[in-house]
Amino acid sequence: MKILVTGGAGYIGSHTLVELVKEGYEPIVVDNYCNSFPEAVKRVERIVGKKIKVYEADIRDHDALSRIFDKESGIDCVIHFAGLKAVGESCKDPLAYYDNNIVGTLVLLEAMKAHGVKRIIFSSSATVYGDPVYLPYDEDHPVGNTTNPYGTTKYFQERILRDVCAADKDFTAVLLRYFNPVGAHESGLIGEDPQGIPNNLTPFIGRVLTGKLKELSVFGDDYDTTDGTCERDYIHVVDLARGHVAAVKKAVQKGVCVYNLGTGKSSSVLDVVHAFERASGKKVPYKISPRRDGDLPAYYADAKKAKRELDWEAKYSLDEMCGSVYEFNLKNPDGYNKSNK
Ligand code: NAD
Ligand code: UDP
Repeated sequence: MKILVTGGAGYIGSHTLVELVKEGYEPIVVDNYCNSFPEAVKRVERIVGKKIKVYEADIRDHDALSRIFDKESGIDCVIHFAGLKAVGESCKDPLAYYDNNIVGTLVLLEAMKAHGVKRIIFSSSATVYGDPVYLPYDEDHPVGNTTNPYGTTKYFQERILRDVCAADKDFTAVLLRYFNPVGAHESGLIGEDPQGIPNNLTPFIGRVLTGKLKELSVFGDDYDTTDGTCERDYIHVVDLARGHVAAVKKAVQKGVCVYNLGTGKSSSVLDVVHAFERASGKKVPYKISPRRDGDLPAYYADAKKAKRELDWEAKYSLDEMCGSVYEFNLKNPDGYNKSNK
């Protein structure tokens, strides 16, 4: 079965390609490499021992998408990862986020419509829930109270997909709301490779442990949480990738379905620091710094619906997630671009 994967060269996309091929699917990638490298897909090919077809194109390019759908007849489903994802950048340049994420999704949906492709799996985020009314967040928790343009694009994209399903009763949209994806493939060949200084916790610690950065700043230790630092639901990227395969297999009924992809457990920033220390056998140098603007104190998923309906649950522990980040950084100290290929 052919599956078009937008943003397939990216962090979550590349891990999903591996799981799709393992399960016998034929992924076809569309990516403009605005936040990734062709090398990522080459490494996926090494892991799975198969060639993967890649089109370098921007999903906002209507003609390019149309040509891809024409050429690749028989696409059964689209997994839509392509988008911009940095919260801070989205506050500085909201128009770039609305353009890439919203226009990109509209052009993709138009191309799908023109070519009779009626199934999409969409990368949404726990950010659509906003300030928790209750925890854990379940899929019925109110959405839309977003706190930054990135989160708002995710909320709008969900709304657009709901409207498309309402207008076409044969259309299926699976909205997957990710919690905090971390980790890397066990081969150490693919992982998260942010450009510049990482904003996110685990790639930052990965670079501290390989000597690329001096120390971690822990943003706030005076929250009302178990140890005063923020708590999140970290999920191994391979578990997340498996969640997409489960969605392709199981979510076959028409209309919209929504699933949280998380572990259902929360871990503090210091829990993550200690997991890295256990995995690497090294101390993580850190200092306590002021709170980061916009951080919620704590949230985590109610992950029962995905288990019940998709027969999927996360299986990797926090120590395994942190160990795999450490391995990826050891093997790729300069990321995809410069490391030994
Ligand atoms: P990523 O940046 O590594 O991957 C996104 C990929 O999309 C990149 O390869 C990029 O080059 C490509 N892309 C972006 N705009 C494009 C365009 N207009 N045309 C073609 N390709 C384009 O990000 P990721 O972490 O793999 O995230 C994938 C998706 O999951 C994103 O939509 C993101 O918002 C969502 N998400 C990510 C997280 C997270 O923490 N990583 C959490 C929740 C949701
Ligand atoms: N964090 C931190 N130092 C960093 C990066 C992140 O203390 O250098 C904290 C951040 O305050 C949050 C948690 O780590 O509580 C996860 O942050 P990340 O940016 O990875 O993901 P977010 O939950 O913001 O999407």
